[in-house]
Amino acid sequence: MITAVFGDALLDPATEQLTPRAVVVIEDGVVVASGARDHIGVPAGATPIDAGGLTLMPGLVDSHVHLRSRGNGRDLAEQLATPPSLWVLNAVPAARATLEAGFTAVRDAGGTPAGVKMAIERGYFPGPRLKVAVTGLSQTGGHTDSHFACGVSLTPALPDVPSPVVDGVDPMRKRVRETIRAGADWLKLCTSGAVLSPNDMPHHPTLTLEEIRAAVEEAAAQGRKVMAHAQANTGIKNALRAGVATIEHGIWLDGDAIEMMLDAGRALIPTLVAPLWVIRHAEQGRMPSWAAEKGRAVFEDHRASVRLAIESGVKIAFGTDTGVGPHGSNGEEFMLMHELGMSTADCLRSATTVAAEVVGWEGRAGTLTQGAFGDVIGVAGNPLEDLELVARAENVRLVVKGGQVVKWEEQVARGASPA
Ligand SMILES: [Zn+2]
Repeated sequence: MITAVFGDALLDPATEQLTPRAVVVIEDGVVVASGARDHIGVPAGATPIDAGGLTLMPGLVDSHVHLRSRGNGRDLAEQLATPPSLWVLNAVPAARATLEAGFTAVRDAGGTPAGVKMAIERGYFPGPRLKVAVTGLSQTGGHTDSHFACGVSLTPALPDVPSPVVDGVDPMRKRVRETIRAGADWLKLCTSGAVLSPNDMPHHPTLTLEEIRAAVEEAAAQGRKVMAHAQANTGIKNALRAGVATIEHGIWLDGDAIEMMLDAGRALIPTLVAPLWVIRHAEQGRMPSWAAEKGRAVFEDHRASVRLAIESGVKIAFGTDTGVGPHGSNGEEFMLMHELGMSTADCLRSATTVAAEVVGWEGRAGTLTQGAFGDVIGVAGNPLEDLELVARAENVRLVVKGGQVVKWEEQVARGASPA
């Protein structure tokens, strides 16, 4: 099947080039040609999508989401009343909302079993392309150990999600192997404490250097990379020394950590919007007080850390930790990165070419060159001039995934069309 998407213009985030009167031709889900209509022969049998009034660009990539979390805060009583199957089914509306916000490919940073990815691939429900970490591994009492003081754990046990709690080098090797067996594309480690966990602090390192190294080795042996939830300075440095590929959150980067990242070409995934949502949920009474306090305490340090990373030229891949905040609100992160000094073009690249390269979709996602996934979004204007066009789900008028239209607000698009 061949689809031809016609737009007023086509934006390539890599080059910042805006091509007027553009078309993207997609055959069997893959881009076969894209560019100015005058230069591209559209096959006679192609199904046309007339996205007049819209600027086309590649679908967006989010490097850090949690589709299994609802994103409406934490209510401990509600968690106790949630059966494991319902936790998994949270991923259905989450996946749809993510896709409809223009995010056609995401990396799930833990909690979502591989079956969710398989279900989307089989068309059971709409959702973005997925790479999954399946679980996030932490030490006893660490970020993913959700035992509370009373002794009850609030992480529901699922048969195909290995236990997230692991201590020691050999158990770590085994748990990484089990996680890969459970379908992990990426491994996720928690090398520091966190905001949303009951028993740790964001500024404390967790897991030993040896444990992290063992995980990186085991992952690499089977062609996987490791992402590290790393907020504490020492936790960030341990992760970098051990060879993790991406630093998630990075609340306390310093000059040395930045240098280590630059030297090894490692990426930071800031998730600036996550502490903001912790505070917002707290204001609605949907966040335990200890988490709200930690969220408020890290907020400014986090911003200063990410600002330093931007100024220093660290590779920054777009990521939101959505699941803390509501699914589909991912784009707000663009505005926060921009506020801290990132240019609009770099913001757009962080969610296209950079995220695709970092997560493992280089040349397939974040671009509409030949051979890329046929994932196209359309917005009413040039996002290089107005980031709001990609920052809010309702501004993303057209979403095409693999050549199939999944969202098309034609009336709205035409109403907003520049005459
Ligand atoms: Zn996360």
